[in-house]
Amino acid sequence: MKSLRLTRPTWRVLAHGGAGPRRSTAAQRTCLTEVLILGSNILQVGQSALDAVEAMIRHLEDSGLFNAGSGSRRQLDGVQRMDASIMEGKELRAGGVATLELVRNPIMAARLVMEETDHVLVVGQQATRLARHFGLPRIHSVKKAARQSSGKHRPLPNEKTLTLYKKMAQYGTVGAVALDQHGHLAAGASTGGVPVMLPGRVGDSPLIGSGVYADNRAGAISMTGLGEGIIRLALAKQIASAMENGRSPVQAARQSLNKLVNRIQGQAGCLVMAPDGRFAIRHVTPFMSAGHWNGKGNPIVNDKF
Ligand code: ASP
Repeated sequence: MKSLRLTRPTWRVLAHGGAGPRRSTAAQRTCLTEVLILGSNILQVGQSALDAVEAMIRHLEDSGLFNAGSGSRRQLDGVQRMDASIMEGKELRAGGVATLELVRNPIMAARLVMEETDHVLVVGQQATRLARHFGLPRIHSVKKAARQSSGKHRPLPNEKTLTLYKKMAQYGTVGAVALDQHGHLAAGASTGGVPVMLPGRVGDSPLIGSGVYADNRAGAISMTGLGEGIIRLALAKQIASAMENGRSPVQAARQSLNKLVNRIQGQAGCLVMAPDGRFAIRHVTPFMSAGHWNGKGNPIVNDKF
């Protein structure tokens, strides 16, 4: 009788630094490479996909090179308000924060919501308070000073400038997805929002099912792009459901992104991972800076997939 060889699922990490009309910088690509190595080191020693996703996003937030953490863009009143979420695919636990202020790592706050509260989403000043309660590091005080002064007397740009700025701006949100050695999936996202936004605006990134989803029986997804469109189609869950119904990551991503473009002229990109390690990085924007690695060869980081 043939003996059965039990094979471990191939672990893998995916990360992105946003989708949009511009290429990433060399510094951003280097940072994405570092992040893929960081995530891989965590998975290689048997730690969880959740730990890898949190650590990768934390590093991207700390870099200040992306529209997340200390690098977050400001809302029209001059204040940085950040959104983030994280989800794990074994028990479908999830946590998110929205319009968080002055917290260095919103992704850590999202994980706190998941692990330390009975809730999934905490917003506004109460989210900041929760982060303070658990002693999460603050954004450096220079940024705080900038925030306090920039809120006042901030001239609003005229319509032509706003339209041009919207077209030129890179979204620059960050996200990560991982599959660990034990076959568990996780996904997360962190952002400072879109180029021009009203104070209090919330995008897809903190919304489970829109910006992020993870289910060991379907797949893990992290979205980026214009959040308003992603929310209206609940894209992350839509991609997960397509995979649960037998679609490959590429098919599921393509189908949902086509729908986004055809139905509501949306713009987005996504990281998608199947429970067996197949994956897709797809976008309908001109560029998406992202990468993947499973420890073999060198990490792959590109601007187009
Ligand atoms: N999805 C983010 C938001 O709408 C932005 C981005 O991904 O760049 O807030």
